[in-house]
Amino acid sequence: MSNITRLDQFKKQQLQKKNRAHTLCKSGFHHWDIIHKNHFDIKKGQLVTTRQCRFCKKIKVSAR
Ligand SMILES: [Zn+2]
Repeated sequence: MSNITRLDQFKKQQLQKKNRAHTLCKSGFHHWDIIHKNHFDIKKGQLVTTRQCRFCKKIKVSAR
């Protein structure tokens, strides 16, 4: 019994986390992970860093 309850709570927590992350993304607060650092962008003619949001997988490219 207690195991089932714990699993339910765990699932609930995970869901809440997911929802919160989604809300943050919608508000423009993405959690950026660097996936490609300081590589040369030929189009921009400068070094750029590519970041991807951990939650919504959106990609952002910025100068260095
Ligand atoms: Zn995001």
